[in-house]
Amino acid sequence: VKLPTSAATSARMRMVKRRDTPGELDLRSHLTMSRLRYRVDVEPWPGFRRRVDIAFPKLKIAIFVDGCFWHRCPSHYVPPILNAEWWANKIDSNVRKDTEVGRALSARGWTCLRYWAHADMEEAARQIVHVVRCGSALSRVVA
Ligand SMILES: [Zn+2]
Repeated sequence: VKLPTSAATSARMRMVKRRDTPGELDLRSHLTMSRLRYRVDVEPWPGFRRRVDIAFPKLKIAIFVDGCFWHRCPSHYVPPILNAEWWANKIDSNVRKDTEVGRALSARGWTCLRYWAHADMEEAARQIVHVVRCGSALSRVVA
């Protein structure tokens, strides 16, 4: 089974997944209230071809807010019934890319923080503030 069939659908899916999800907006508003200046939807270096949801480029801190569906959250992911195999492959590939991106960032000295979209974003923001201010060497946070 090959889905989605149109480039438009595919582009829409990418956008839906990539930017301005409710969890990410919530986290960003908490970061703004903490007076942190971050950048959004950043390519960490030219040619990397993957985006970081929220970044502090000078400090090399990358933050991802992973959607429960797209990144297979253990608490909320429900496999689609229609086109199950296509979706399983798609989500597998997303999860694999997450790991690859994390490794690539670490290899270049970036600190990579990941949060589930369902996380308590106030708490997430507190952790991020701590990492930004104290340069803590946390390699992964799942809240
Ligand atoms: Zn979840």
